[in-house]
Amino acid sequence: MLTGIQVALIGGDARQLEVIHKCSELDASVVLFGFDNLQNGSSGITKAELTPEALQAVDAVILPAVGTDDQGNVDSLFSSKELRLTHEHIAALPKHAIIFTGMAKPYLRELCSNEGIGLIELFDRDDVAIYNSIPTAEGAVMMAIQNTDITIHGSESMVLGFGRTGATLARTLQGMGAKVRVGVNKPEYYARAIEMGMNPFYTQELISHVSQVDLLFNTIPAMVVTAQVIANIPHRAIIIDLASRPGGTDFRYAEKRGVKAMLAPGLPGIVAPKTAGRIIADTLTRIIMEDARRRRNGE
Ligand code: NAP
Repeated sequence: MLTGIQVALIGGDARQLEVIHKCSELDASVVLFGFDNLQNGSSGITKAELTPEALQAVDAVILPAVGTDDQGNVDSLFSSKELRLTHEHIAALPKHAIIFTGMAKPYLRELCSNEGIGLIELFDRDDVAIYNSIPTAEGAVMMAIQNTDITIHGSESMVLGFGRTGATLARTLQGMGAKVRVGVNKPEYYARAIEMGMNPFYTQELISHVSQVDLLFNTIPAMVVTAQVIANIPHRAIIIDLASRPGGTDFRYAEKRGVKAMLAPGLPGIVAPKTAGRIIADTLTRIIMEDARRRRNGE
């Protein structure tokens, strides 16, 4: 339980509703900043203005998926007011406080490190990334269906990168009856792909493997789908790039050649905000409980 723990949510989107629900269910005292348009009547949940004083007794701060921008601004779907996190806010937190976000920009990292406040980037964690790979793969399939006139079943599909997202997506496509090729960079990934009944190849040789591809999914956060690769892709193919901005595709050249290519960021929050919210809520409440237990035991 989170009895006696104060949790502050600053901004966010539909995913935060699950976090609020879970924290409240576990008996935390929840303070919401930037949720003016949200109706709530539950006891233990209050709304406040974002001032340093309001953060003085907070044990955990929960920020949206992308914590702040480079100026400290925090997005909130539930408020039209500006929400900005500054040095004064972080300095007001108790020293044991933890800040949670999906991924942090240098601005937030620097504020936390200057004040010695713990920062946890949830999307960096293996468990969160693996859970998130499920709605990501479903979102990628949705985009493929929306943007093609063929079935995934029987398609020549290719997944670049065989990490947490790539492996889940490759298996999802295989389960739908696609012929799946996976681009890997290590022998152990190659071996795993063979074991899973897929056709692996090393991405250095990507150009020689793309001539028949229908659906090309990239999960590698580096420029891999280069102009030379795109020049060898059939015109009918589509490229769905899941890697974090700016993706790993030469979008300029794809447009020039008339190959449909799209960057598809933030799929879990788009296709399954409730599930994505639960993934975040379950993980961060476990971490807060474990931290509170350690502090109680003086560890
Ligand atoms: P990950 O587990 O690190 O997977 C990336 C994989 O690419 C790793 O296995 C990495 O190998 C491999 N790789 C790197 N360079 C390569 C190359 N030249 N050739 C072949 N493989 C290469 O990361 P992830 O969690 O799957 O996430 C992948 C990307 O998707 C990230 O940019 C992430 O931010 C993004 N993402 C997007 C969404 C969305 O909604 N669009 C959702 C989740 C994640 P090593 O193991 O050797 O590093």
